[in-house]
Amino acid sequence: MIRVLICYFFFTSLTNIVISQKRCGTTDYFNKSILANPKIHFEYNSISESIQNSPMDRYNIRVAVDIIPVVFHVIYRNEQENISKGVLLDQIDALNRDFNGLNQNTRYIPDQFKHLLSNIDIEFCLAEMDPMGFSREGIMRVPTTEKAMGLRKTENQRSVIHYSQFGGSDPWPPERYLNIWIADMDGLYGRSSLPGAELYPAERGIVIDPQWVGPNPVDTKNQGRTATHEVGHYFGLLHPWGMERGDCIEFDLVDDTPDQADFYLGCPTTSNSSCGTIDLPNTFMDLVDDPCMALFTHGQKSKMLATIQKVYPDLLQSKEKQYLADVDLSQWVIYTQRKLLHIIPPAPFKNRINYQMLDINGREVINGNMYFEHRSLIPISNIPTGIYVLSFHLNGNVFSKKLFVE
Ligand SMILES: [Zn+2]
Repeated sequence: MIRVLICYFFFTSLTNIVISQKRCGTTDYFNKSILANPKIHFEYNSISESIQNSPMDRYNIRVAVDIIPVVFHVIYRNEQENISKGVLLDQIDALNRDFNGLNQNTRYIPDQFKHLLSNIDIEFCLAEMDPMGFSREGIMRVPTTEKAMGLRKTENQRSVIHYSQFGGSDPWPPERYLNIWIADMDGLYGRSSLPGAELYPAERGIVIDPQWVGPNPVDTKNQGRTATHEVGHYFGLLHPWGMERGDCIEFDLVDDTPDQADFYLGCPTTSNSSCGTIDLPNTFMDLVDDPCMALFTHGQKSKMLATIQKVYPDLLQSKEKQYLADVDLSQWVIYTQRKLLHIIPPAPFKNRINYQMLDINGREVINGNMYFEHRSLIPISNIPTGIYVLSFHLNGNVFSKKLFVE
């Protein structure tokens, strides 16, 4: 009997390890990146320490909901993998519910932890403007004939899906967009890069297997929370047990999540104790089934917002500015003086805006993109005297003004 029990225990244990590895590949991706370039570990630790040492709570105080533009890169082999726009929008809705405490499954949170339920106050939206400021939907579609594109690597360990030259899709600037690649991961649900721990800058973002883009009305196990979990990683959250399972030494560096030795699977109705405290298996950062993942805690909120401010400061866009449909240039003070272009908006203009200056023959003499918070100075020392047209591109609209450069 004992032998049977021991064998059963090992069988269960190994099965659980396999399932857990399928649920989330973030730690594995991180470990492989470190093997390929050990410097990444120092980078990651340094960013992580600076976030831990910052007064994280202060990032929680904000006056408005911020939005994050999302770009999907759908790498597909067949129509089933070529996820429709409707499902992608459903996935964004699911993210918005989970990040704003609007999910309907909070009954799964054990009573003693209900007070930890937090609202992150972040809204995700499908990008509607490309990096150049032109109107363009953030859905890139790339057909492939390769299986398991989400796992394929080049000889120097580049993940092919992040590069069009290898049959994937190039990211939109990750400083300003959340890039989500959808590609066959051969059974793995998803994975994310951790802040500062990308092997290559193009690989900032998350990857989800098409099967786990959701919610799926037929498969109730898929509530779209693979994305929630991986976006949590992208914003700096770790699994509750930290990087090493079962050690009870390092955890997730979040104040209010209980110290927890290992993951939970399925849909646990009771919590065990480990490392001296009662576990909380229902955060979005555990590995339970989607219907039972139910909360981010206040501590996880602080850590995510601190990570965003420190690592991706341009990602959050003010909602009001994002939907600003018009720019009244008559209210802007724009002039050239001493080979500098002076631009002064009537009020701080927090949205990043693309600008371009053309000569009278339509040739571009300068371009760029920037915020016009208060006053901006753009050097124009190489531009000959003459008449030019300065244009701003915003939300697919172009606003122009004639200028004389002395
Ligand atoms: Zn994970």
